[in-house]
Amino acid sequence: MMSLKFAAEEQVAVAAVRRACTLTSSVFNKLVKNETLVKGDKSPVTVGDYSAQAVVNTILGRAFPDDPIVGEEDAADLRPESGTALKNRIVELANETLTAELGIGEMAEWGLGPGQSRTPEELLDAIDRGTYNGGATGRMWTLDPIDGTKGFLRGEQYAVCLALIVDAQVQLGVMGCPNLPVDAANPDGPRGCIFVAVRGHGARQLTMSGSDPKPLRIPTFSDDNLNFLESVEAAHSSHSFNDRVAQILGIKRAPTRMDSQAKYCSLARGDGGVYLRMPTGVGYKEKIWDHASGSVLIEEAGGIITDSRGEPLNFGLGRTLGENYGFVAAGKEVHAKVLAAVKQAKEEEAKSKDKL
Ligand code: AMP
Ligand code: MG
Repeated sequence: MMSLKFAAEEQVAVAAVRRACTLTSSVFNKLVKNETLVKGDKSPVTVGDYSAQAVVNTILGRAFPDDPIVGEEDAADLRPESGTALKNRIVELANETLTAELGIGEMAEWGLGPGQSRTPEELLDAIDRGTYNGGATGRMWTLDPIDGTKGFLRGEQYAVCLALIVDAQVQLGVMGCPNLPVDAANPDGPRGCIFVAVRGHGARQLTMSGSDPKPLRIPTFSDDNLNFLESVEAAHSSHSFNDRVAQILGIKRAPTRMDSQAKYCSLARGDGGVYLRMPTGVGYKEKIWDHASGSVLIEEAGGIITDSRGEPLNFGLGRTLGENYGFVAAGKEVHAKVLAAVKQAKEEEAKSKDKL
């Protein structure tokens, strides 16, 4: 079941992601009941983000104390007096999650199980383990405690995303998707899956309890059944550019829109044929925690991921992907076709701008 390479890291990462998923699901359910879901600026989702990061970083800090973490959140807003209410809630949620009974493959040495409560200070420090700046050398983890916040708030797709990078290469990716149907062909069936990829050792889908691994392989798509996976949020990637590329390729099926790196998971198991993410022109720099785990999953499922010019992604530049320009992820043949169509669509765009 477990690959030998990075076996310990895989076991810890799966446990950490599972625990974080339990936490975020429970936060969502409590928030719905209290009807405070989308209220205010210190929004409830912030509670979920912070506590999930506190849990994952606490576990990593115990299991791999020397590894730095590039995490999305930091605790700066929680330390002053004004952050007390939020902090108390985070401490309560994180401790509830850390002290739950041990599950499959979990060990008490990672600071898990009954009686292993942390102090508020320890949990804030755990969140701040995520402030590492990244770089080209050494081991580091990337964490997005709730990727796809907007989807989380809508009760749709989001993902807890954890990856291990060694010398700028993603070696391990673990993603938890609490709301993703176990089988896309049965959208009303059971939900919640974990995806794991170890470089050179394949990609797998597990149950939410970490069992029953199923190997993943991107299937071959014919022109008839090819479809796009894309963001729900038009502010995150250009829907109109994707429409044009789909037109050039003669794609008939409507795009499947979903939030978060659940798109990479869906692509890895063949729910969609290509994930295309083009910048919207606002100069946003993509973050490494938003693509690290997804990229290794795609490669280990037999696919290719590059930017929209066909350039490889560079995870060694710091917290962002630098001058990266969009993303194309797909099986090998589809990837080549989409890159060509993207090139054509860009040339058309440039020509029509020249005319103006
Ligand atoms: P998605 O759910 O695929 O739309 O992507 C969610 C991610 O988009 C979040 O993790 C944000 O970090 C990221 N994001 C926020 N603003 C932008 C933007 N202008 N362009 C691209 N990505 C963005
Ligand atoms: Mg994110």
